[in-house]
Amino acid sequence: MTSVAASEEHKALRAAVAALGTRYGRDYLARTVAEGKPPAELWSDAGKLGYLGVNLPEQYGGGGGGITELSIVLEELGAAGSPLLMLVVSPAICGTVIARFGTEAQKQAWLPGIADGTRLMAFGITEPDAGSNSHRITTTARRDGTDWLLTGRKVFISGVDMADAVLIVGRTEDARTGRLKPCLFIVPTDAEGFHKRPIDMELNAAEKQFELVLDDVRLPAEALVGDEDAGLLQLFAGLNPERIMTAAFAIGMGRYALAKAVEYARDRTVWKTPIGAHQAIAHPLAQAHIDLELARLMMQKAARLYDAGDDMGAGEAANMAKYAAGEACVKAVDQAVHTLGGNGLTREFGLASLITAARVARIAPVSREMILNYVSHQTLGLPKSY
Ligand SMILES: Cc1cc2nc3c(=O)[nH]c(=O)nc-3n(C[C@H](O)[C@H](O)[C@H](O)COP(=O)(O)OP(=O)(O)OC[C@H]3O[C@@H](n4cnc5c(N)ncnc54)[C@H](O)[C@@H]3O)c2cc1C
Repeated sequence: MTSVAASEEHKALRAAVAALGTRYGRDYLARTVAEGKPPAELWSDAGKLGYLGVNLPEQYGGGGGGITELSIVLEELGAAGSPLLMLVVSPAICGTVIARFGTEAQKQAWLPGIADGTRLMAFGITEPDAGSNSHRITTTARRDGTDWLLTGRKVFISGVDMADAVLIVGRTEDARTGRLKPCLFIVPTDAEGFHKRPIDMELNAAEKQFELVLDDVRLPAEALVGDEDAGLLQLFAGLNPERIMTAAFAIGMGRYALAKAVEYARDRTVWKTPIGAHQAIAHPLAQAHIDLELARLMMQKAARLYDAGDDMGAGEAANMAKYAAGEACVKAVDQAVHTLGGNGLTREFGLASLITAARVARIAPVSREMILNYVSHQTLGLPKSY
């Protein structure tokens, strides 16, 4: 696949990351999953090569690029069979939010480590009783002297076992109106009152999901990221990169599955010609390729708008890219499994486990239906049902 007018730098980045991904590949990922370990070696190598922080400012150890470059990194690692889910979270959400709104001390404390992979930050917004309706979150921070006391529950938080801290979306009470407003806090994973429990997911992934209980976690004033009164704006600065990066994750996985299916269909012969000569096999694979390419175009548009500072324009494009990529990935994986017949379901060929993995892109970080709601309301101006 080539990009529309891809620059020489982007082509070089794509090729270099693909080489790293191929060196690790699906076998490495399968081993880490079997051993129940996070993909620490790949993470560390990607950090040393400067790939984890391509989007972060150069003065804090990053590459000075944007989400455009970071999405190339994730897509290519995924296409090689070894995606790093935490790229969606640590540099894309947390790194972006801290780089844009953090204090100088927060930037110095976190960005160099996020960029070189020696520090990792998870992100926690989802709550058991709020789900897709993040306006309903109840994790609350109250002041105690100059400190904060944070209490609440989070669910499905990825990579907490790998993380030094979690960027938690909580709420504080407005002293004047008594209304709750969203706020972001850096919460160390070894803080007293911070409890994590792994969730038993049917996902063949090296990164685990956790339920968190925050029980009066005491945080210093400096744990608050950015302005207490601009929480929502700061939050969206992190959520658009999250959607763009989820699209990259999905496109990478879709490309990996499609490549496996094409390779198989070229050779496998049960009548006179390879099965790939039958249009019932070839056309759905061609459609999968087209859908992935289209999703990638929208992802590139969203990334460019975001990197150009157009948060509003990027919002719509990022949602549409996440939707298109999630759907394209689910279809590509489904067709890939089907193309391999019985082998599609064997562990040896390693495609069946992608069926559940591909669904993640349809559900998280915002579900297919919530994106359709967004486009219905925001783009088309249709009335809300909720
Ligand atoms: C592998 C994985 C990793 C994740 N990692 C993180 C993480 O690191 N940090 C984090 O904060 N969260 C994370 N999440 C959580 C994820 O963002 C949520 O699962 C997602 O937002 C959906 O919320 P929910 O699961 O509560 O579903 P619900 O909100 O309960 O929705 C259930 C179903 O109802 C539909 N639905 C809900 N409301 C409407 C409506 N108004 N109209 C139409 N349909 C509707 C949804 O589309 C969905 O199909 C992760 C989830 C997964 C699966």
